[in-house]
Amino acid sequence: MAQERAVLNQLQAAGYEAYFVGGCVRDGLLGRPVHDWDITTSALPEQVMKVFPKCVPTGEKHGTVTVLMEGESFEVTTFRSDGVYLDSRHPERVTFVPNLREDLQRRDFTINAMAMDLAGNVIDPFGGRADLERRVIRCVGDPETRFREDALRMLRAIRFSAQLGFSIAPETLAAIKTCAANCRHLSAERVRDEMGKTLLSDRPDAAAQMADLHLLSAVGIQRVKPCELASLPKDRAVRWAGFFRACPEANWQTLRLDKKTGEIASRAAQIAFTCKTRLDWKKLISREGGDTARCAAALTGDTETVSEILSSGECLNLAQLAVSGKDFPELSGKAVGERLARLLDHVLEHPEDNKKEILLKQ
Ligand code: ATP
Ligand code: MG
Repeated sequence: MAQERAVLNQLQAAGYEAYFVGGCVRDGLLGRPVHDWDITTSALPEQVMKVFPKCVPTGEKHGTVTVLMEGESFEVTTFRSDGVYLDSRHPERVTFVPNLREDLQRRDFTINAMAMDLAGNVIDPFGGRADLERRVIRCVGDPETRFREDALRMLRAIRFSAQLGFSIAPETLAAIKTCAANCRHLSAERVRDEMGKTLLSDRPDAAAQMADLHLLSAVGIQRVKPCELASLPKDRAVRWAGFFRACPEANWQTLRLDKKTGEIASRAAQIAFTCKTRLDWKKLISREGGDTARCAAALTGDTETVSEILSSGECLNLAQLAVSGKDFPELSGKAVGERLARLLDHVLEHPEDNKKEILLKQ
């Protein structure tokens, strides 16, 4: 038995209700790959922990226990409702509830508010299946109320529409326009995660739509130029670089991107289109390193040139130069560095000259 089924089975055998819920039901019905199985149950967290010897109380306050089974992990969450939200971000308190319907009711969109039992029966009180067929993102309940509870849902609406190629129901979109200003309270990390998933989807330009709808103010972004990111490879740094080109006001630190991705993407966005010739690319690799150069080349379409240079064996940095500081005992201090830099410039243009006897005469 697949592990996820075993988790449901064991909860049921212990006398509790248990269902697959949310993204896995949605993606399963769409025939898309399921990347994680979320499970909802009538069992309280301490009861879940008694059923499974190996588990971690990852979010006990929210009723979530991560169950570990043969190297896989499953999030098991007690049926709950989310109480009132006072700050557009967090429920004041969560309440465990006795039935599945109330748990489904707290979920954001109809397509995310379905559950499935072990026999494959779909529990769908809000018309999620019909919306899957119509290819529509629609809030569960009154959209304005739901967006005022948690402003992130507005970004999630755009993100799911980008990932699935769905439209947004007219009243849901109208509510986004009305409630957009509430997004200014969101944490940069949550906004970044939704932007990142959107950028890696088949419709990355939806990230620009987020800005047009004024949903990105928490990360200091007001405007994004029209862009065509879909032709770029689905690589995190490359898609962010494409976004940075379309949005010079975006800042990777404000977005709390990791340093490596942030530096590579923003630098690549600045310099990519300054390269015209093979020599320009060589100089760029030499100055900025291979990762940034590859990212920049993905933006301009010059990936073959850059791969060819990187595998050519030609000298690209001081370490590969046929001479070093020791070869110039007559020089000291800054003069050594300047001489080597000049020789590297020469060798970048004339790779055949990367020989000690030639360079010493330069
Ligand atoms: P994916 O993991 O593919 O991005 P998902 O639907 O599993 O999609 P998660 O963010 O993992 O999305 O959340 C799991 C489920 O929890 C969702 O399907 C939805 O039912 C519910 N959910 C998540 N975030 C919210 C939210 N902000 N408001 C209401 N319900 C939410
Ligand atoms: Mg998920």
